[in-house]
Amino acid sequence: MTAMHYDLIVVGLGAMGSAALFQASRRGAAALGIDRFDPPHTLGSSHGDTRITRSAIAEGEMYMPLIRRSNEIWRELEAESGRTLFHRSGGLIIGSDNSAAFHFQGDFVETSARIAAKFGIQHEILSADEIVRRFPLLTPRPDERAYFEAGAGVLRPERCIETQLELARRTGAAIHTGEKVTGYAADARGVTVTTEAASYRADKLILAAGAWISELLPETHRGGIRVCRQLIHWFEAEDRSAFEPSRFPFVIWIGDTLEDFWSVFPAPAAGMSGVKLVTEQYHTSTRPDEVDRVVTDDEKADMYHRLTKPRLKGLRERSVHAEVCLYTLTRDEHFLIDYHPETERVVVTSPCSGHGFKHSAAVGETLTQLALDGGCEFDISAFNLARLGASA
Ligand SMILES: Cc1cc2nc3c(=O)[nH]c(=O)nc-3n(C[C@H](O)[C@H](O)[C@H](O)COP(=O)(O)OP(=O)(O)OC[C@H]3O[C@@H](n4cnc5c(N)ncnc54)[C@H](O)[C@@H]3O)c2cc1C
Repeated sequence: MTAMHYDLIVVGLGAMGSAALFQASRRGAAALGIDRFDPPHTLGSSHGDTRITRSAIAEGEMYMPLIRRSNEIWRELEAESGRTLFHRSGGLIIGSDNSAAFHFQGDFVETSARIAAKFGIQHEILSADEIVRRFPLLTPRPDERAYFEAGAGVLRPERCIETQLELARRTGAAIHTGEKVTGYAADARGVTVTTEAASYRADKLILAAGAWISELLPETHRGGIRVCRQLIHWFEAEDRSAFEPSRFPFVIWIGDTLEDFWSVFPAPAAGMSGVKLVTEQYHTSTRPDEVDRVVTDDEKADMYHRLTKPRLKGLRERSVHAEVCLYTLTRDEHFLIDYHPETERVVVTSPCSGHGFKHSAAVGETLTQLALDGGCEFDISAFNLARLGASA
């Protein structure tokens, strides 16, 4: 019997890989997706019930085509699956003249407003008094102000992944879970992908292994990527309905230092219990297979007492749940979307850090175009892999 030769193999079926597999099978490609775990799972970067999405992308104008296309695809997926993937809640980005340079942007509030104005995105700038008047659970300092985008909201990451995998399977994609890819090799006629269980042949390969991507890159390109452990907390609400998306926006609160950064998420009615809060840290790197996945009592107390209590009403000290999640960071915190340095048969991505999910639907489509068409619709030059090699 002749072994199946696929048009495309996708390694890693999290946010980016599930989107790529869905797009490939939608186009009629014979596609195989492989994941070492069983996505959606809680060991990578795409769990935790909700992900912020907004239309003005202050991280850089090169993301604007991706966000616009992603927003279209999320709507298409909702129509095709009958599931709610996005909740419109509005979104606030709060900062002051003293705010830390979040994602390397000097003034994230100002930059968001500038980009929104340039791209015709409805927004407002709110003073501290106006923030309190509209959202009485928040207690900003008098010198703080906010960018408010009414059309922004939260995506449901597990559902997005699940839906794209289900639709991909329905249109003929093969999906292997619990199967770790250990290597790959390109030759003149295709690519061989080796797993712990078997080997497979395809014309093209997409590597979307998230926090594990370094393991699949050449030695020369590993140094420019690091992984940081991040925390997701859920605290008990006095009245959880006050945090539902129709009443409460997401809040990105940029303090005076990077340690003083945190976000609050609206709580969809059918979501996890409690109200979700996240922080960020960049000082300690880890490895995805060695990371400490236990959130300590000290870490919970720090989240509640230092970051939350002075600025948000309506939450009790009781932690109802907490999870560890992984950021995968390039030095400039921008995405990777490019051909492999040694062969165009292989396309590589790892657009993690803290801002990848909202773009993942369009990243998946872009990866598929690169693999199947030999080029893509959007300018992705800023996301090149040469950045990793340069000073590695
Ligand atoms: C706490 C936190 C909050 C965030 N908040 C936001 C937000 O509000 N908005 C936003 O836009 N983004 C946010 N992000 C970022 C976003 O979630 C990530 O950028 C995105 O989910 C990364 O997707 P991925 O596909 O690269 O990784 P993953 O979804 O982790 O997928 C990688 C997959 O590869 C598989 N894999 C790895 N190695 C192998 C192998 N050898 N063989 C087979 N399979 C393999 C893994 O099992 C995994 O399923 C946040 C991230 C974190 C951690």
